Amino acid sequence: MIPVNSVLQVGHFPEIMQAEIDRRFVPTRHLDPAAPVPSGDFQAILVRSNTKLPESLVRQLPKLKMVATCGVGYDNLPLSYLKAQGIKASNTPGVLNDAVCELAMGMMLGLMRRIPESESFVKSKAWSKGLFKITTTLAGKRVGIAGMGRIGQDLAERLLPFKVDIAYSGPSPKAVPYTYFKDVHALATACDVLFLACPATPDTDKMVNQEVLEALGPNGYLINIARGSVVDEAALLYALQHKKIAGAALDVYDNEPNPNEAFLNLDNVLLTPHIGSATAETRIAMTNLAVDNLEAFFNQQPLPTEVKN
Ligand code: NAP
Repeated sequence: MIPVNSVLQVGHFPEIMQAEIDRRFVPTRHLDPAAPVPSGDFQAILVRSNTKLPESLVRQLPKLKMVATCGVGYDNLPLSYLKAQGIKASNTPGVLNDAVCELAMGMMLGLMRRIPESESFVKSKAWSKGLFKITTTLAGKRVGIAGMGRIGQDLAERLLPFKVDIAYSGPSPKAVPYTYFKDVHALATACDVLFLACPATPDTDKMVNQEVLEALGPNGYLINIARGSVVDEAALLYALQHKKIAGAALDVYDNEPNPNEAFLNLDNVLLTPHIGSATAETRIAMTNLAVDNLEAFFNQQPLPTEVKN
């Protein structure tokens, strides 16, 4: 049981998630994180990864002991401050892998085969005046995954039937049968399609820079389903505008929900509005896992998915 008036919900949740929250318990809603905090002895916060939780807000809640974020990424949380105060945090790993991988696969195929552009070609009746562009085949390509975690591993399993060679990069090798590179630059040199599936951390900030994009090369494709901060956007725009890479499919950006407008005018990008986990099934599962963590906290049980690092 979650006691009444004990949880502050920070930020808007999509309707389907809000309905699921309200089915489980009734939080106090604080929709604008920048507005004055409602009074109350809140012991826990419920937030989602698209909402940045300001440290200044957390500082106003002296009874706070737990923050549950809905999403696997927790770069929205003031983690150092939470740790220093002994405030626990939980996220929702695993339950969103299928949805994120499905989108990533769709983005890759859509980008390489120019599916959105080919649809416009038919709808605008351009077909009657000529043939559509010749595109490129995935089979036989070398695919790199920066971040062989839960999503990276599920993605690799989906990629294998497409007859590709798989390699990956990250801080340490994993128990997977793919070629390992410690460094994303070396990975980019060795692949034709580079997926980003790592977390946003100080170490991954602008990790994909001009040198990495040049290593990927003029026939290389970048698919970012991680976080905007992992890519140096200025370098990416330059690379796309000057055909230093073949194309990019982006679900995440530096400035959401208003990505740099220069992306909008390019014909070698496929852009989606941070919808990796945005399916009904997944969003309901994420919401329930976040609420399960809150329940465990109030029942003084171990959190099912505590953020440990
Ligand atoms: P995860 O299981 O924690 O996996 C992350 C992996 O990234 C780990 O294997 C980690 O290696 C690796 N990593 C850490 N630093 C790295 C670096 N510098 N270079 C390459 N790899 C590095 O997390 P996940 O569940 O797979 O999720 C990954 C990320 O996807 C999330 O953090 C989130 O930002 C993003 N995401 C986006 C969406 C969306 O809607 N687009 C949805 C869900 C998730 P170690 O294990 O060795 O530390």
